[in-house]
Amino acid sequence: MPTDDVMVDIRGVHKSFGPLAVLRGVDLQVAAGSVTAVLGPSGSGKSTLLRAVNHLEKLDRGFVAVDGELIGYRYQGGRLRERPEREVLRQRTGIGFVFQDFNLFPHLTVLENLVEAPVGVLRRPRATARARARELLDRVGLSDKADAYPRRLSGGQQQRVAIARALALEPKVLLLDEPTSALDPELVGEVLDVIRDLADSGTTMIVVTHEIGFAREVADTVVFMDGGVVVEQGPPDQVLDNPRQERTRAFLAKVR
Ligand code: ADP
Ligand code: MG
Repeated sequence: MPTDDVMVDIRGVHKSFGPLAVLRGVDLQVAAGSVTAVLGPSGSGKSTLLRAVNHLEKLDRGFVAVDGELIGYRYQGGRLRERPEREVLRQRTGIGFVFQDFNLFPHLTVLENLVEAPVGVLRRPRATARARARELLDRVGLSDKADAYPRRLSGGQQQRVAIARALALEPKVLLLDEPTSALDPELVGEVLDVIRDLADSGTTMIVVTHEIGFAREVADTVVFMDGGVVVEQGPPDQVLDNPRQERTRAFLAKVR
């Protein structure tokens, strides 16, 4: 249920690592309740862009705002300054991040993985956090795994836990960086099903993916990145079926 409200506003973002210009002026607006799929060749800057959104990367130029609030910076005395670390951490709780390789806490049970941040960061009462965690596990189809340790789960189950853990912080937007790339092919579907369910319920998401069929079905907007810029963006049928740019066509021909 997309609305016209912009939830994530990325403007003129530049980022270099030494001499390597990885983001070279990225502009992207993500409407509240919409799903944006980001495609592009390896090394095109997709992960760096997601990391820039929650200020895991500092920007060289440009800005990112989430729900109208500048991330990582603020205006002070008419100048843009870095926010104190504590504020950045607070801002990050509103931006869920799901990594390719899950990154669950191995020494905590599944339930504890979901309870840790709401209690530690949001100061929720433990009982409230546990009740919410159980709801979320139910939502991703893992009610029976609450007391298991991550290593006992399949990759697909671990990734569903990671998604539930991100949701436990009630984020305004969920960023997913190739959430199915580390999975055996037969486990991809169960993770995509969870993401599809979130999309249907209006969760704002930016998902980097190579799953073209999934992007076509679930995304409101498909973005093609190459060389640190957005080469093309639009509705799935436009970008995937009638790409305007030669670079997009060449990429799609290779991944299909
Ligand atoms: P993608 O996710 O599209 O594959 P990335 O954003 O991960 O691309 O990386 C883009 C480029 O930036 C790559 O060449 C990568 O090696 C480089 N890069 C990413 N992070 C760093 C870093 N912390 N230091 C140096 N180079 C980096
Ligand atoms: Mg990447």
